[in-house]
Amino acid sequence: MQQDYSSHDIEQKWQQKWNESGVFEAEPDDREKFFITIPYPYLNGNLHAGHTRTFTIGDVVARYRRMLGYNVLYPMGFHVTGTPIVGLAELIQNQDPQTMKVYSQFHGIPMETLTGLDTPEKIVEYFSVEAEKAMRSIGYSIDWRRKFTTTDPTYKKFIEWQFNLLYEKNLIVKGSHPVKWCPNDNNPVEDHDILHGEEATIVDYTLIKFKYNDIVLPCATLRPETTFGVTNLWINPDLEHVKIKVTFEGREEFWVVSKEAYHKLTFTDREVEFIEDVDARSLIGIKVKNPLTEAEVITLPASFVKGENGSGIVMSVPSHAPYDYLAVRDLYDKDLSEYGITEDLRDLKFISLIKVPEFGELPALEAVEQFNVKDQKDPKAEEATKMVYRREFHGGVLKENTGKYAGMAVSKIKDVLTRDLIEQGLGEVFYEFSEPVVCRCGTPCVVNMVKGQWFLNYSSPEWKDKVYRCIENMDIIPEELRVEFNNKVDWLKDKACARKKGLGTLLPFDKNWLIESLGDSTIYMSYYVVAKFIAAGIETEQLVPELFDYVLLGKGTAQDAEAASGVSADTIEHIRSDFEYWYPVDLRSSGKDLIPNHLLFFLFHHVAIFDEEKWPRAIAINGFVSLEGQKMSKSKGPLLTLSEAVGSYGADISRMYILSSAEQMQDADWKNSGIESARKQIDRYYKLAKEIIGSGATSGIGSDMKGIDRWMLSRLQQRILETNEALGTIRTRHALQNSFFLLLNDLKWYQKRGGSVLLYDILETWVRLMAPFTPHVCEEIWEAMGKEGMVSLAGYPTYDETLVDTSAEFTEELISGTISDVDEIIRVTKITPQKAVLYTAPEWKTTAFKKALAMQKEGDLNPGVLIKELMSDPEMRRYGKEVPKFAQKLVGDITSMSEESFNTLTSFELDEKVALEENKDFFEKEIGCPVEVYSADDAEYDPENKAKFAYPLRPAIYLE
Ligand SMILES: [Zn+2]
Repeated sequence: MQQDYSSHDIEQKWQQKWNESGVFEAEPDDREKFFITIPYPYLNGNLHAGHTRTFTIGDVVARYRRMLGYNVLYPMGFHVTGTPIVGLAELIQNQDPQTMKVYSQFHGIPMETLTGLDTPEKIVEYFSVEAEKAMRSIGYSIDWRRKFTTTDPTYKKFIEWQFNLLYEKNLIVKGSHPVKWCPNDNNPVEDHDILHGEEATIVDYTLIKFKYNDIVLPCATLRPETTFGVTNLWINPDLEHVKIKVTFEGREEFWVVSKEAYHKLTFTDREVEFIEDVDARSLIGIKVKNPLTEAEVITLPASFVKGENGSGIVMSVPSHAPYDYLAVRDLYDKDLSEYGITEDLRDLKFISLIKVPEFGELPALEAVEQFNVKDQKDPKAEEATKMVYRREFHGGVLKENTGKYAGMAVSKIKDVLTRDLIEQGLGEVFYEFSEPVVCRCGTPCVVNMVKGQWFLNYSSPEWKDKVYRCIENMDIIPEELRVEFNNKVDWLKDKACARKKGLGTLLPFDKNWLIESLGDSTIYMSYYVVAKFIAAGIETEQLVPELFDYVLLGKGTAQDAEAASGVSADTIEHIRSDFEYWYPVDLRSSGKDLIPNHLLFFLFHHVAIFDEEKWPRAIAINGFVSLEGQKMSKSKGPLLTLSEAVGSYGADISRMYILSSAEQMQDADWKNSGIESARKQIDRYYKLAKEIIGSGATSGIGSDMKGIDRWMLSRLQQRILETNEALGTIRTRHALQNSFFLLLNDLKWYQKRGGSVLLYDILETWVRLMAPFTPHVCEEIWEAMGKEGMVSLAGYPTYDETLVDTSAEFTEELISGTISDVDEIIRVTKITPQKAVLYTAPEWKTTAFKKALAMQKEGDLNPGVLIKELMSDPEMRRYGKEVPKFAQKLVGDITSMSEESFNTLTSFELDEKVALEENKDFFEKEIGCPVEVYSADDAEYDPENKAKFAYPLRPAIYLE
């Protein structure tokens, strides 16, 4: 053991030993297995603090399980499919200044290396080497024999097999579907490609075709039923409008829409042809025909209408839409003669069409009044709108003036009415984003109806049912997320699974398409099992479907697979039995950003391809990491790479810091001040261990143990118990709190109280307890203690109830509590005591205390009953004046006690006077003067009448 803690030397030494001995290379055996996977990193940059957190959590779980006796497999691969790496290569080729700056400065790539990374292949090669180096440098217990990259030709064979299988099961379908689309890249965009608007969904609006002569003025609405109540249309006189020819399903029409709407329409499945520009002013003041009622309605000017919303022309329903009502009202006194409008708008008759219990004839007007909304710009207009919509949607019924729809619930009308409108040629469906979406390349996205697009049929109810069943039988950590997973399944719609551009595997049944990156990263955990054998010598062309069918699904025979692949039946059987051993995945641990995509698809594909017994068993989620309060960004910075953290602070310190700063869903904030303090803690730990080992200490268990030794062993059990419980639910912060910080405090107290014989034993347990978190320094200490083998493979400490000693714990609590009370008095009075006197509680108080505890146990503790009960005792009545006040205090104290301390109190009895007297020497040493102990019943020396303040377990104190 070196004199001073040097993270670099220790970490290199142990990483080399782990590597050389292959301790983390997992092979099936008789032990129970534990297969943990973390989503492989996407390699368009170096690993950063977010990866550091997620992967370190995974490593702690892997190491913990290994020490518990499980045969643990923790593999890793690299994800490179899709467009971001291609995009990055282009940016580097063009020497894009922002990219060059961020990648040299924040990703830490030397400029001369960076300029060379000008093809996707070179980028993949560079970052996969760097990522492995970084993960090794922080000491992850990964079985590196199984690594792969998603562009490996062998991996592509596996993905082809997977997609052929899904196709055969009819889970991949071809058709026209609305997709998020980047017009610049000419490609669908997936969550990973989005700069802004990741949360956006595609919403289906109904286009209502108002008519002016033979021209259609379409209006998009989510409430088509309100067409019955339209009094006017809104047109913004300052927007550019166009006339276009729209051909759809054999019907030819001329439409007028905003320029933006025209752009969007070109991406739909309509054929659209530009005819001419139209002056918006010429559209205002005309009368158009409502397609449902045939009524003539006027078009009015409105500056609030935006070109990018819907068609750029908006229908107005003042009776049910507060904004429309406010906008009409605002025009009452305006001079609109420039538009040829001379009629008095006060004559515009509002049309009520929904009956709703909370409102009368005109809900919008009532709501505006109720909220006292001033005008359109008043924020309260939004509240009024929400209230009207909510009430009408949930309780509204259509009135007589809606014809055959009268009596129908508002909540049920949309689909029925839209279908009727489409059939009669009076309406169409129009898709829009719920919020703007911008592609990674900076281009605003559109909804594109892609014809002949390949889709994963995620909306299939049968498929979803299996996923629900899978979730039901899984552990979700933390448990509160279960609802969210189910909701995400509810909402999931069909998803485009192929694209034209990027890296990856061609769709095997339609080679014009590349499989999208969220589709080829769903069941690759099973590939880890096969990857080891491939690396040992299976050729790409040998990876035929028959081979995967047999080893992963048990379909066919090994002989058939041998005949088809040329791989020996022995090897094939071996892969099959390995797969049977390792699968299913016992835990997938991931950052929370992957819940709605990666993790969801992981479940969908597993239930589609594998039998129920191979479905995943647990998912754990952790929060994000920020940097000194700032959000990290791969493409803009700031960023803290894993290598940089390990380079500056060392592996163990970085691990301990990130694990103790937050847990589960909490976000962590990486702070320099925080990691500095972690550095000091590990330094201290090393020093302490070195002192204990250097003193030549050996195990003291079984020798003549004193109270303080029994206390230490008892405390240690509590720490072990809490640490195990916390690790079981992946609460790393709580685990470290117990296994490190609180244990360190206990040890300090132990030494202060003169404890020494157990130092070696405590250290021996402590090293094992800490090994999953800070494995390198623990190996170093373990070795210096003369232990056989590596601590990484030693048994994890488990709770031993027989070592719990409540009597010893109580005594120490009494002593430490008394010492801190004395310290507090000295601090306040600033005296240097010449003598200290401690008074333990009188008999009657102790009796009352026990009585109150007993009542609380029965659940009927209250001051009235307690006082009555106590006063029925003649002995107690002697203290009649004091009893009620004391009883009040007891009730307050006991009811606010933690369950743990309450349970200990009720199960135990302590003679306080004896305990204090036995430890007089310690008090005298700590306080620095002679100490006397009395019972308050019998206080021979009490010059300042302090004894009356004595309380059970809280002696009164007099300092002289
Ligand atoms: Zn783009």
